[in-house]
Amino acid sequence: MAEVQSEWVEALKLVDVEAGAKPTTSLYRRRSPLSSPHYQTERLAAVNLSHTPHQGNFAETLANQGLKTFRPAQLEIFQINVGKLCNMTCRHCHVDAGPDRVQENMDRDTVEACLRALDQTEAHTVDITGGAPELNPHFRYLVEECVARGKHVIDRCNLTVLLLPRMRDLPEWFAEQGVEIVCSLPHYRKFNTDAQRGDGTFEKSIEALRRLNTADYGIGNPQRRLTLMSNPAGAFLAGNQAKMEQEWKAGLAKNHGVGFDRLIALNNMPISRFLEWLEQSGNLQRYMEVLVNAYNPATVSGLMCRNTISVSWDGRLFDCDFNQMLDLECQLPEQQPHIRDFNPKLLAQREIVTGTHCFGCTAGAGSSCGGAIDA
Ligand code: SF4
Ligand code: SF4
Repeated sequence: MAEVQSEWVEALKLVDVEAGAKPTTSLYRRRSPLSSPHYQTERLAAVNLSHTPHQGNFAETLANQGLKTFRPAQLEIFQINVGKLCNMTCRHCHVDAGPDRVQENMDRDTVEACLRALDQTEAHTVDITGGAPELNPHFRYLVEECVARGKHVIDRCNLTVLLLPRMRDLPEWFAEQGVEIVCSLPHYRKFNTDAQRGDGTFEKSIEALRRLNTADYGIGNPQRRLTLMSNPAGAFLAGNQAKMEQEWKAGLAKNHGVGFDRLIALNNMPISRFLEWLEQSGNLQRYMEVLVNAYNPATVSGLMCRNTISVSWDGRLFDCDFNQMLDLECQLPEQQPHIRDFNPKLLAQREIVTGTHCFGCTAGAGSSCGGAIDA
């Protein structure tokens, strides 16, 4: 709590009021059993997949295509999840982020440890995520330090955060730093977006896109790349990414006069609040069957766990952001993996930790931080 400046918390309250009704609150706030990663893993393990290929066992599915051990490739992306604080509380959130998650925020010491670790790698990209990463008090310092090291920096932005009074200069600041903005927007139509993210979200997102366009984002400048990220509104797989991009570009330009550079389409992962929604709507069994049956072996080489290391707000190390949310830490011999003890050679030898949730990444065209893998 000490790390979150009190005026920022006040600003968050203001935005909450402006945003109107939210689709949900965090599992943590509701003291839902699903706020426990262990309980989520148990719920996933309880789904009966005995009638699906390889009984829905991800490790066996990989073994069947010759991958008895699943190891990382060259480390290219250093992903830092700076915390769970967010100005929104979306229904599908796999982080269980929200305005109440003020405790889980990366402190300055951990940021410095991340930078020291980054200096030991050849990673070309730093992918900063949250929550709403911009709300972390050390966000701008982290970005500046990564840019100074010549890294390509990605900010995973929810758009509405840019309307907070203290964030209004962010589009121009991002432009100066050459940061790529990857923005989540479930749909180019108001109804679908507000249903998932809360009333008023769509209008705010359009206003934020206008500000980014004014700062030369989304107009084809490679130094100011604006990517939109979409995920389905229900228990089905992401659509055809290329087709969606065309449709979205036309729809947003015609109806709202805003542009973007590319669209990435992600599958929803059966984790956290999306897992809750699947259970409550009676879709969990069917969705898991859809994911397992749609396994696409061509996606495996492009999975983000193969070229990424994911650091949590408290400095622990994971194979990906999804494993992070399920508390499935990187497996290292005789060592609890932490950014303080970062050892790239040791990490390169690890086996990637997998589970039933991994079918979310390999279904259909596949789904990684960069969108479809086998598009
Ligand atoms: S999905 Fe993104 S914007 Fe929505 S609550 Fe989660 S972190 Fe925040
Ligand atoms: S959830 Fe996806 S990215 Fe993470 S370990 Fe599983 S397959 Fe890899």
